[in-house]
Amino acid sequence: MKVFVTIIRLLFLALFLFLIVTGKMFLWLALYGVSLIFAIFFGRVYCGYACPMNTLMIPAQWLSKKLKIQSNNTPNWLTKGAVSWVFFIITIALIIISQGVLHLSLPILPIWLVVSVFVTLRYKPEVFHNFICPFGTLQRTIGRFAILKRKVAISSCIGCKLCEKACPTSAIVVSLDNCKAFINNALCLQCTTCSQACPKNAIHYGK
Ligand code: SF4
Ligand code: SF4
Repeated sequence: MKVFVTIIRLLFLALFLFLIVTGKMFLWLALYGVSLIFAIFFGRVYCGYACPMNTLMIPAQWLSKKLKIQSNNTPNWLTKGAVSWVFFIITIALIIISQGVLHLSLPILPIWLVVSVFVTLRYKPEVFHNFICPFGTLQRTIGRFAILKRKVAISSCIGCKLCEKACPTSAIVVSLDNCKAFINNALCLQCTTCSQACPKNAIHYGK
């Protein structure tokens, strides 16, 4: 499963780079638009499989751990909640003005790609995913109401927290009250990492 997911991510990364190099960024933005409709049914599959930032953040996190430069803290100003919406508005405004008015092709997506890697070299990936990414804002809003989502079978869960440790967005946490895992689908990228980590096969994707 892990290999299959990695191949899909690399294929989308190659497509992204091809579209950027050939000046067809609008096609990637169209794909992002379609992914928002997908999110209504399947959750944030764009974030987990297609997003080039997520794909590059995985080796960035690995490197950060190896170099022991990863901080466990999240800067306070980021946790206010509105920051990613501000980035979203600025990003959309820049795209509209540069493409529609000035007829310039600003490298807005590659810039975000670089930002995501640098942020993840210093902080845990959830910091970029949950508090910074402008493209995650709409995905989070829609993903919360997805028809298909990842759920924990309470009767099978033993509260071992292996899923919690593996999750890149802190979408799954084990409750202190009942020692059972719970998933926040607004934050869930549908990446399957928790399902792979669970020793009890307690995490499933469905209605
Ligand atoms: S809850 Fe599971 S599927 Fe969702 S982001 Fe976390 S590890 Fe991935
Ligand atoms: S890894 Fe599985 S058993 Fe362990 S806390 Fe998570 S859902 Fe429960």
